[in-house]
Amino acid sequence: MKIKTLNGPETNLTQETFDRFKTQLYGDVLLSSDAGYEDSRTVWNAMINKKPAFVVRCAGVADVIACVKFAREHNLLLCIKGGGHNIAGLGTADGAMMLDMCSMNSVWVDSKKKIAHAQAGCILGDVDRETQVHGLAAVLGFVSRTGITGLTLGGGFGYLTRRWGWSSDNVVGIELVTPEGKLVHAGNEENPDLFWGLRGGGGNFGVVTSIDYKLYPVGPEVIGGPVAWPASEAPGVLELYRELTKNAPPELTLAIIMRPAPPAPWLPKNYHGKPIIIMLTCYSGDLEDGEKIVAPIKSLGNPLGDVLVRRPYTQLQSLLDATQPKGRRYYWKSEYLPGVESSLCEKVMEHAGKIQSPHSAVILFHLGGALNNLENDHSPVGNRDTEFVLSIAGSWEEETDNNTNIEWVRRAWEDMRSFSTGGTYINFLVEDEGPERIEAALGNSIKRLSEIKAKWDPKNIFRMNRNIKPANR
Ligand SMILES: Cc1cc2nc3c(=O)[nH]c(=O)nc-3n(C[C@H](O)[C@H](O)[C@H](O)COP(=O)(O)OP(=O)(O)OC[C@H]3O[C@@H](n4cnc5c(N)ncnc54)[C@H](O)[C@@H]3O)c2cc1C
Repeated sequence: MKIKTLNGPETNLTQETFDRFKTQLYGDVLLSSDAGYEDSRTVWNAMINKKPAFVVRCAGVADVIACVKFAREHNLLLCIKGGGHNIAGLGTADGAMMLDMCSMNSVWVDSKKKIAHAQAGCILGDVDRETQVHGLAAVLGFVSRTGITGLTLGGGFGYLTRRWGWSSDNVVGIELVTPEGKLVHAGNEENPDLFWGLRGGGGNFGVVTSIDYKLYPVGPEVIGGPVAWPASEAPGVLELYRELTKNAPPELTLAIIMRPAPPAPWLPKNYHGKPIIIMLTCYSGDLEDGEKIVAPIKSLGNPLGDVLVRRPYTQLQSLLDATQPKGRRYYWKSEYLPGVESSLCEKVMEHAGKIQSPHSAVILFHLGGALNNLENDHSPVGNRDTEFVLSIAGSWEEETDNNTNIEWVRRAWEDMRSFSTGGTYINFLVEDEGPERIEAALGNSIKRLSEIKAKWDPKNIFRMNRNIKPANR
């Protein structure tokens, strides 16, 4: 079997070597002719079309150790797929050995200590489902099919970030298999350098096998959901958004989505495909207080649809899933913002008016709050001055429409990037974004990360990520 090496050229593994390796594993090994290979090799973004030489669906830590040792022994290019949701397709690579972590998706909750121990192949929905059994939640993102590991290693934010910070701020321990195939634990007491690097530095140091999250009482119900108006009402909606976000308690998170109306049952059929503005809300505190706080949203103008109601937290966490299916084509540009000025609102409306596909959107997501309270060097995720994130999210179906949609995203971004803090979110970077964008995301942390990389992965075995080069190499 031909497989890429770390140095570039392919090596030939004999059948005997490969068969011997397979006897060490509990999990399935998939070749391109096997059922399941296609599902493993493809990722959320159909713009990425890579074909690993073979896939191992690791059944547990012992499989991960066997894989890392095998890759090291034969100098193989290794890629690791968590939830496969990275827009740049960092979880897959042509000709590589892929570790697909999807079978390692169990979650154990210690309700007394308020900690969830989640295996690295979990998607967000796995963790939300198990933690909500105890009325608890971890700080995660807002599309339930996203992988916990890619999200957390890059920072992570969602509806609870304003209360408790980035997802990575709420990690208390990480278990990882090193390039030597050794299982180590990283936390504040044990391997603190590695622990620091993992909270923003991505999968640069080894294969993460599990993450321990601090949990908080949330739900079972929150006040959440969207209210939508015709785009012609956008000036008033954006004005209210600016006002509410200025004085918002940390329990309140608000997002603006400007896009063509999706064919959702809560929106009138004759409006599907027409330009709308949505305010998406989550209030995770006391329900009666929350109802008072969201009242101005519900009474504004003439909404086309209003499903901002008391609902289970897990339901809110998967509300956007249908709008973000695997297999569409996606291209994004994002910036962190220090605030939302009225001149930015003008631009948001202008560029939303030029959207080229029924699935694309311009999004403002409210951050700030707890994440602002830590020092910038608390972990590499940094960006502690962030108050909002602006996302220009292109999404379409046909390859022939690539140029038109990418062009729309780039133009809108060029026109709005001056509003940025100068920082961006590493997990939202697309394939064509290079070192200067990684620097915008990680800032001064890169130097310290490269020293940690030199200690833990000096040969840069883990390189299919936003790669940090080992120091002095
Ligand atoms: C629809 C959608 C919604 C999103 N919503 C949010 C959101 O609300 N909040 C937010 O913060 N982000 C969000 N994101 C961005 C998300 O954080 C990134 O896409 C993230 O990379 C996804 O992680 P993954 O495990 O699914 O990705 P993958 O593509 O599987 O992996 C991403 C990177 O992590 C590495 N990796 C994965 N597992 C391991 C492991 N076990 N050990 C070592 N390295 C590993 C991979 O090798 C790769 O480099 C969203 C993305 C999408 C597509």
